[in-house]
Amino acid sequence: MSRMEKGRCHCGAEGAVFLAYSCKHLCESHFIRMFDKRFRKTVRMNSMLRRKERVAVGLSGGKDSTVLLHSLAELQKDLPFELVAITIDEGIEGYRARTMKPAKIACENLGIEQHIFSFRELCGKTLDELVKKSKDNIPCSQCGVFRRYALNKAARELKADKLALGHNLDDMAQTVLMNIMRCEPSRLARLNEPLTKNSKLVPRIRPLMMTPEREIAIYAMMKGMPIERVECPYARFAFRGQVRKMLNESEERYPGTKFKVVGSFLEIEDALRSKYAKGAAIAECTSCGEPSSRDVCMFCKLKS
Ligand code: SF4
Repeated sequence: MSRMEKGRCHCGAEGAVFLAYSCKHLCESHFIRMFDKRFRKTVRMNSMLRRKERVAVGLSGGKDSTVLLHSLAELQKDLPFELVAITIDEGIEGYRARTMKPAKIACENLGIEQHIFSFRELCGKTLDELVKKSKDNIPCSQCGVFRRYALNKAARELKADKLALGHNLDDMAQTVLMNIMRCEPSRLARLNEPLTKNSKLVPRIRPLMMTPEREIAIYAMMKGMPIERVECPYARFAFRGQVRKMLNESEERYPGTKFKVVGSFLEIEDALRSKYAKGAAIAECTSCGEPSSRDVCMFCKLKS
């Protein structure tokens, strides 16, 4: 039987989703159950959350962060902790405005406070304006630096104990390979750092890091979540796009590739950390005072 053919779930119902990496067909209800179970296991195994903590979710309005918000809200029924959402408006015409709407709806539906911060407030310019001015940087490099800076600052101002990000298995596998291809082992060592040594850096958690992107899209659709399917106009310039294509092709031919890339990283992360990041206390930028591993942080460099 071809793996694309319809099969049956172990309960006997018609399969709704085929998981090639485990060669399993699941009906809708067993797929949702498996998804929720894996989410909770990732949170638990990595000790991501504690009772009574205040968690800020980076909510873009895309499928990953929307599913993350819903899954955390569901988890709140069993584990008492606080949730707030942070949405960053980079100022990308025709893109961000469309994803802001579903982000707002998701927060309203779940009764979660949403705080919106923009690049314009942060540095006086939108990403579109920054891109027009800059000749050396591809948009995603600037956007990534500014967004990380904005999210951390906002989470700290909101007194969050943790910053939850919607990074999925595909994102993680791409980041691991990108760091290897760029020969940046010290950045790789910091990818999944559990706790920070700087009180200004809010610890980041990634509860969807073991969930494939495709399954997040299917879950969001099955749960009828309000999601806008629109791609950032700058995405085509990103190196990440090339790595994504390569990984997707490998996954198609050799199912389970993405799990293996992330699994290999998790196996060696302690060794990487002890060689490249051990004791590397994060200092503060001499210009803005935000956490930075350099004298002047990348945000201040790019801004100037
Ligand atoms: Fe920013 Fe690049 Fe993502 Fe667009 S694709 S939102 S420019 S990081």
